[in-house]
Amino acid sequence: MATIFDKIIAREIPADIVYEDEQVLAFRDINPQAPVHVLFIPKKPVATLNELAPGDEALAGRLVLAAAAYAKREGFAEKGYRVVFNTNGDGGQSVYHIHLHLLAGRAMHWPPG
Ligand code: AMP
Repeated sequence: MATIFDKIIAREIPADIVYEDEQVLAFRDINPQAPVHVLFIPKKPVATLNELAPGDEALAGRLVLAAAAYAKREGFAEKGYRVVFNTNGDGGQSVYHIHLHLLAGRAMHWPPG
């Protein structure tokens, strides 16, 4: 099922895009929960982590590597950051197109809410 992220990929609605390659798109979260809050998504629509299949290893890895590269490029990698994949209801997922949340710019709490 198409989500709002498909519309961002298709440039049908605007987003503050900070990174793009053949398989990955990253843009600022519209409702940031930290001074830096960027979403890394695959261009391929996958609803949740549960739908990742054999063959998607590289795609999942690319999201993580793209986020780490962004953290280094933006200069907060050493200070620290958090990455999160919310999954289904209890995980707090609201958009059913997998996305890696990259949060930085403040000290994070643990356990998360
Ligand atoms: P989740 O709750 O983990 O599914 O995260 C979905 C995230 O997408 C939330 O943090 C929203 O603020 C964010 N979001 C929803 N619509 C947009 C949009 N049009 N542009 C950027 N971020 C969005």
